[in-house]
Amino acid sequence: MTGLLESRRDLEAILRQVGDGITVQDAAGALVYANDAAARLIGFTSAAELLATEVPDVLRRFELFDEEGNPFPLDRLPGRLALKGIENTEVIRYRHRDSGVERWSIVRATPVFDEGGSIRFAVNAFQDVTGRMLAERELAFIAEAGQRLSATLDYEETLGTLGSLVVPRLATWSGFYLIEDGEVRRMFGKHVDDAKRRLVEEAAREHPFDFSNREQPIARALHEGTSSLFEHVTDGALRSAANDEAHFRALKELGFTTAMVVPLETSGRVIGAMTLVRTEGPAYTAADLRVAEELGRRAAVAIENARNFERAQDRARASQALEFVGDGVVLVDAAGVIRLWNPAAASVTGLTAESVVGRPIADVLPVWPAITPGGRPETHPVDVGGRELWLSISAASFAGGIVYAFRDMTEERLLERMKNDFISTVSHELRTPLAAIYGAAMTMGRTDPGIRERQGELLGVIAAETERLARTIDDVLWASRLEAGALHVSIESCEPAELVEGVVSAARAHLPPNLQLEVGLAEPLPRVAADPDRVRQVLANLLDNAVKYSPDGGKIRLTAEPNGRWVRFAVHDEGLGIPPAERDRVFEKFYRLDPDLTRGVGGTGLGLYICRELAEHMDGRVTVAPNGSKGSTFAVELPIAAS
Ligand code: ADP
Repeated sequence: MTGLLESRRDLEAILRQVGDGITVQDAAGALVYANDAAARLIGFTSAAELLATEVPDVLRRFELFDEEGNPFPLDRLPGRLALKGIENTEVIRYRHRDSGVERWSIVRATPVFDEGGSIRFAVNAFQDVTGRMLAERELAFIAEAGQRLSATLDYEETLGTLGSLVVPRLATWSGFYLIEDGEVRRMFGKHVDDAKRRLVEEAAREHPFDFSNREQPIARALHEGTSSLFEHVTDGALRSAANDEAHFRALKELGFTTAMVVPLETSGRVIGAMTLVRTEGPAYTAADLRVAEELGRRAAVAIENARNFERAQDRARASQALEFVGDGVVLVDAAGVIRLWNPAAASVTGLTAESVVGRPIADVLPVWPAITPGGRPETHPVDVGGRELWLSISAASFAGGIVYAFRDMTEERLLERMKNDFISTVSHELRTPLAAIYGAAMTMGRTDPGIRERQGELLGVIAAETERLARTIDDVLWASRLEAGALHVSIESCEPAELVEGVVSAARAHLPPNLQLEVGLAEPLPRVAADPDRVRQVLANLLDNAVKYSPDGGKIRLTAEPNGRWVRFAVHDEGLGIPPAERDRVFEKFYRLDPDLTRGVGGTGLGLYICRELAEHMDGRVTVAPNGSKGSTFAVELPIAAS
């Protein structure tokens, strides 16, 4: 004790210099010494002022918390433990009840004993760690924020997370403003109190902020990426945010005491702004603004990620849709390289996506036409590996290149051409007999001698040509009837021999002299289930063709025989024959092997089409095969009638 007193002056001189706060309590707990640092730490202006205050009065000024934020029990105060002989250290957060200011200290208390081993003093050393603790807590908060924000890729959820991060920890209310497609969209943030939240929302709806006012703090955050800190929300600050007097009054009513506005910024781009306000509690500090700014950056990254993810999903959905569309869709980038080739494009062209994606379109489709983007679809011939396809193509340009959509019109084109051919053929088929009839009639009208003798011959021409005319017109009528689905067959049990007989006798009547017509029927022949008129029509047509396409004469045989469930009627000729590749096509509508009539035989290209359709309507079928080495065999198979 004597030693301490002797050196007290020196000691005080030393203690005054140290940054740490030092206090000394006597055995009864009363403060007997404090340096100025200790006094200032706990809000006194000098050590003398602190020493003049009773310890309980000092303690009453503060709320004490431990590191976890729980109230700090007074009997665990380091000084009190030291007075019981226990040297100890604690981290204590103490909040000044009046100002709300919080500080952290590491408090180390050491007991001092006398010679007899009794406690004389407790020496408390306070090390202020407020800066370090705040920084640590900020870091921890920001780390947690980063983690929670990146935990979802859902846009709305990200904003929800952001709201619950800042309220209530950092603010009583927070609002978000997001730039979407160049427009600012206001998102309602969180408020500690739901009733107040409605008030804020109402005010916001009634008075939307004017973001064209560049002085407005939120506008400044959005346009310039500038943050604003209003430690104390003054009327001036409110006026700078408000559009007009009414707006100002509405804002004032909300009772904000302190406020911050920070941009939501990522890679130098502002995507929105966040406002944080408090209606009570400590004023925001520069440190709080730093935390809010950092939060803004992390939130912006999370929001961008969520948006990109949504866009990518949209794209994925779009490209999935492209898998199913019937039109070929091809995406060509700015360098002319194919980037997308959907399954329809592959099936139309026969080229797989693997074989063309990544190659220049000019290599894949050398005669690809130049289509004006945004215009109407144009039909062009396109050469695909030596095959000519007619494609109806439309184009749309986008930032990365051009998208082509096309449809295969080759069939339609073919039909179109066949229709044109048909019109010229039919016109020809009508004109030729008409000319002959007209000629014969004119000749008969003449009065010169000899005409009388030729009358029979001329009438024969008129009759034959009229018949030819009628046949052509019949073909056209039948074709259109079939086309319209207006054909009715009445099936009955028919005797094949009778059907054949009728057709053969009619054919024999005008058989050219260089042709013979034979009939060969199997014995016995079952009856067929068919419409007798239609069977005769088919057989007459096949016989007619056999005659027409045997210009050099020969033998024609009409046969009938049972063939399983069928009776097979066949017309064999020794005429021009049909090349194997054309065997299916001759049954197509308007299809003619020799449309230019090089062998001078006319026709509409409808006969075989009608034959096949009629046979199928009777559950039968028509086929063609070569007749040995010369000519063709056309067969009609019809079901045997139930006995
Ligand atoms: P059209 O005889 O009126 O031209 P079809 O439909 O009856 O029409 O026949 C289609 C084409 O098939 C004919 O143009 C002809 O080239 C060919 N054809 C039909 N029957 C025979 C046949 N018996 N021998 C050779 N070619 C035939």
